[in-house]
Amino acid sequence: MNGCGLGSPAMDATTANHFMQAALAEGRRALPACLPNPPVGCVLVRDGVIVASAHTQPPGNPHAEAGAMARLQGPLDDVIAFVTLEPCSFQGRTPSCAKTMVERGIRAVHVAMLDPDPRNDGKGIALLRDAGVEVTVGLLEEEARRDLAPHLALKANGA
Ligand SMILES: [Zn+2]
Repeated sequence: MNGCGLGSPAMDATTANHFMQAALAEGRRALPACLPNPPVGCVLVRDGVIVASAHTQPPGNPHAEAGAMARLQGPLDDVIAFVTLEPCSFQGRTPSCAKTMVERGIRAVHVAMLDPDPRNDGKGIALLRDAGVEVTVGLLEEEARRDLAPHLALKANGA
């Protein structure tokens, strides 16, 4: 594996796609227990290897990102996250994932698609970027949309 540039959004596309595919596969495991929350998947990568992964837990329990980060000790300044949906910026039933990522010092975050939830809708990305975290949006977006869109629509309808 190419060790050069891993960890920055400039990571080579094949490698980045591979990790986002793993996050998508992880997200599919969330159904149906996670509903009405969307089935999000997250993998954390260190030195080119997946070191933690998680998917959305039933409402009131950790989101994918929080669950994955809880599996690792200490700072995450050499860790890159691949998440199928924009991390939440707001405190809901659980703490904001974007804020937790900042607090843990995560190095970079690759997001497949923005969260259309009006409480989020780009705010999670802004929160990360304002804190100096490198963020890319749109990696395998079409596939993420296929998995998540039906559940995001349900949520928007007040579920
Ligand atoms: Zn969250």
